[in-house]
Amino acid sequence: MYPRLGIDIGGTGISAVVLDGAGIVRGRASVPTPAEHGGDAMVAACLQVATDAAGQSGLAPAAAGVGAAGIIDANGVVLAASDSFTGWEGYALGQKLREALAMPVQVGNDVAAFVLGEQQFGAGRGIENFFGIALGTGVGGGLVLNSLLHTGEHGAAAEIGHIPGFGKRHCTCGRVGHLETIAAGRSISARYAEETGNMHSTKAVAALAREGDEVAAALFERAGAGVARAALMISGILDISALVVGGGVASAWDLLLPAMESTLRASPPISGNPISILRSELGADAVAIGASRFISRHA
Ligand SMILES: [Zn+2]
Repeated sequence: MYPRLGIDIGGTGISAVVLDGAGIVRGRASVPTPAEHGGDAMVAACLQVATDAAGQSGLAPAAAGVGAAGIIDANGVVLAASDSFTGWEGYALGQKLREALAMPVQVGNDVAAFVLGEQQFGAGRGIENFFGIALGTGVGGGLVLNSLLHTGEHGAAAEIGHIPGFGKRHCTCGRVGHLETIAAGRSISARYAEETGNMHSTKAVAALAREGDEVAAALFERAGAGVARAALMISGILDISALVVGGGVASAWDLLLPAMESTLRASPPISGNPISILRSELGADAVAIGASRFISRHA
C-alpha cells in the first residue's frame, strides 16, 4: 500500500513523512507536540502534519503507520503511558487516528519504529542481529534477532533505558540508577542545571561542551560511557556485535564517541569480536520512516 504516511509522536514534536513505493521521502512536516492538551489535541496535530506532508508530496497516501511512546496494544490503545503526555493512558489512539485520517492506521511503539526504519533504510541494513538504542527525551531500545524485531513476552524486550547500575539518581520510572538518568536528553539537561544553576536544552549543553565548558563535556562523556557499558552487557548476553544509536542526543555524536570508544576498548567482549557502535543514518526521520513499516507487518 503506497504511498504511505509515517508519523512520529515524539516528546517535543510530531512529524510526518510521505514515502513512495521506493521508500523515498517525498513530503515532510512537523509541529510541536501539544503534550499537555490530551489525546484529541495529539490526533489533531497528527492530522495537520499528515495533511501538510501529503500536500508537499503531491501524493495521496493510502495508509498510515504511527510510532508513539509507551506500550501500545494491537488495536492502538495506549496501555502504559509516557509521563511526558497528559491524558494518554487508555487513549484509543489507533481508532481516533483512523477516524481523523480516514485511512487504515497501525500504531506501534516509537522505538520499535526507529529500529525497523534503520533496519530497512539505515545503519542496520544487511545486519541480521543488532540492538538499537534511541537516546531521546528518554532512552529506549529495540532488538533485532535473525532479522526480526524481538519484542519479548510482554512487549517490553530491550528496555535498556531502565536497567540499573548507572549511578544513584532517581529515574523517571521511580527507580534508581537507570541508564536513562545519565544518557537521556532531559537527564543531561537536568544534570547540567543541577551542577551550574543554568537550565539549557540538551542541544545548548552540547554547544557549550564544544566551546570548552567542562561540566557540559563531562555529562556527554558520562552518557557515552554509559551507552558503551550497556552495549557490553547486551553483547555479553546475546553475542551481538552491532549497535545502532540514534535519537536527538545522538546529534552530539562528536561528544559521545570518544567515551564510547574508550569504554569499549577497556573491556572487549569475551568472544574476541569487537562491538561496532553505528550512528543512526535516518536521523530525525527514523521513527516516522520506520512507523510506515507497521502497516505491512499488520495489515
Ligand atoms: Zn527507569
